[in-house]
Amino acid sequence: MSDVSGASSGSSSGRSGGRVFGVPRICHCGVQIMELVSKSSNNPYRRYYRCGYAVSKKLSNDNHTFKWVDEAYLDEIEALKMKNASLAAKLETVTMERNEFERIVFENVQMKLEKEIFERVEEALVESSSTMKKMMVVVVVLCMVMVGFSKLFG
Ligand SMILES: [Zn+2]
Repeated sequence: MSDVSGASSGSSSGRSGGRVFGVPRICHCGVQIMELVSKSSNNPYRRYYRCGYAVSKKLSNDNHTFKWVDEAYLDEIEALKMKNASLAAKLETVTMERNEFERIVFENVQMKLEKEIFERVEEALVESSSTMKKMMVVVVVLCMVMVGFSKLFG
């Protein structure tokens, strides 16, 4: 912060007027940006951002940060719009992929469930018929035994 003159004469020749995207916070010289109101006849009462160093030295036509506040806000809004658009697009693809995935999973589960229920019912039918047969056999055998006993002791 103290070596301002050295910094401004140094590496910053590439930027014309210190133009930055969005709201500037710190000038390339390292001094904080101030928000001021224009008193020029071209832009009366138009607010602008200006390097604090340039303001304190009353510099003009220098390469320290200068930017109209409304232009900075427009930048920020544009950036937000772009961000929103890309986010919305991303969200859409993600939701689409998720919906597709859920649909596939759901179909698979449904198919599995249907298959399983079908198999279970078949199994149950086979089992019940075989146990019924077994029980019938048991009942028949018991009847025969009882008949035999009653004949023996009757
Ligand atoms: Zn500056």
